[in-house]
Amino acid sequence: MQQIVVYPGSFDPVTNGHLDIIKRSAQIFDQVIVAVFKNPQKQPLFTMEERVDLLKEVTKELDNVSVDSFSGLTMDYVRSKKAIAIIRGLRAVSDFEGEFQMALLNKELNREVETIFFMTDIKYAYLSSSAVKEVAQFGGNIDGLVPDLVKKALKEKYAL
Ligand code: ADP
Repeated sequence: MQQIVVYPGSFDPVTNGHLDIIKRSAQIFDQVIVAVFKNPQKQPLFTMEERVDLLKEVTKELDNVSVDSFSGLTMDYVRSKKAIAIIRGLRAVSDFEGEFQMALLNKELNREVETIFFMTDIKYAYLSSSAVKEVAQFGGNIDGLVPDLVKKALKEKYAL
């Protein structure tokens, strides 16, 4: 049986930290679905379509990675894809609390699906989409933090 996993997130926009997690998951599992979710609590900079397009472009060389979007419960989406696990990344201790809560809640919703955590690469330990946006909006240097395509898209958004 194919081992399918779902990597859900806002990806507003995708960073090299996300990309690192995607590549590492793709080396372990048969199929990785990167799934952009509609988070009603967050006001995104990039539209859902833009986030999906950027992800598709930066993962196009990875044969077993696909990009999708969803709204509603992550677990419902995971079930519909017949995935065996949810992939999440961990950076600092500050990520732990929320991720711990979410993983336990998801386990409650479906005992058959695991949440698997990838520890960040030390290079990306302080990297987040929000940090990138903060630096980019004031014209700061984001080389090495995001793929070139994302850098260009950020420049256009902030009309730099
Ligand atoms: P969310 O709104 O779900 O937190 P994000 O797009 O911010 O969505 O992140 C998606 C997942 O990727 C989360 O599990 C987050 O911890 C992880 N992640 C984000 N940035 C990094 C990074 N630099 N290194 C490792 N994991 C990361």
